[in-house]
Amino acid sequence: MVQESENGIKLRIFQSGYCLSDGHVVNPKVRRGKVRFYATWLLIQHPVHGNILFDTGYTDRFHSATRRMPYTLYAWATPVVVHKEDTAIEQLKEIGLSAKDIDTIILSHFHADHIGGVKDFPYSQFICSRKSMEEAIAKKGWSAVKKGILPDLLPDDFVSRTKFIEELTQQEIDHPSGLVMYDLFNDGMLKLIELPGHARGMLGIRIQHTDGITVFASDAYWSLDTFQQRILPRQRVKLFFDSWGDYVDSSEKLYRYHKNHPEERLLFTHCPQTMNFITGKSAKIN
Ligand SMILES: [Zn+2]
Repeated sequence: MVQESENGIKLRIFQSGYCLSDGHVVNPKVRRGKVRFYATWLLIQHPVHGNILFDTGYTDRFHSATRRMPYTLYAWATPVVVHKEDTAIEQLKEIGLSAKDIDTIILSHFHADHIGGVKDFPYSQFICSRKSMEEAIAKKGWSAVKKGILPDLLPDDFVSRTKFIEELTQQEIDHPSGLVMYDLFNDGMLKLIELPGHARGMLGIRIQHTDGITVFASDAYWSLDTFQQRILPRQRVKLFFDSWGDYVDSSEKLYRYHKNHPEERLLFTHCPQTMNFITGKSAKIN
């Protein structure tokens, strides 16, 4: 559905559920204790290219997909809470959009909190990086769990509905920072950013919208605070990361980029500060 009344991109941020994890792991400087990692996602309304989602949050499918071993271990490691009314499809309905209205879904990476809602969108085209999808469809059982992948969350026709960003447009390098970007529609408004490390081929996105420029760096860091203080997560997350070396490298590039562009709003999927920008019903956190 094309938004003809607007000249620029309209950006809205939502959350669909959260998992509980130890705050001490992502920030060794805080005391032990469970914190909520909200699964945030974006609705990007492009004046020409229609409605685009960036990630999809959790749905109840997380629970059915983790009923069997070894996938149950995933649910033990990160207990998930998601209410039906908070899922992406339900929140979109609230603002008058159905699954048919969502033209494109960009997936930053294939962890359950990002792809949990994918099956609710049978008409959308998916965009991700080649590396992220190749890994996601190749892994099963224990090797999938170790990488935070639940194969049951992807629809059977997923591969045929997916395009790789590397093949859609040419990459450009932001030389001062070293970040690799892809101008999705070659209009400068949406640039996907390579941020590997946390997960293979992970993408962030730079959005030029009606309220300014937002860089949504998905899981490149857990929070703006730890990013600004350059506090790396605990060594033990290395077990679940695709590559610690790539993670540190992506953080360095992002740090340089942020320093050069302090006027661009930097957000991360699970950052408490991102929650300040949540719109709609899910903004009421309890
Ligand atoms: Zn992740």
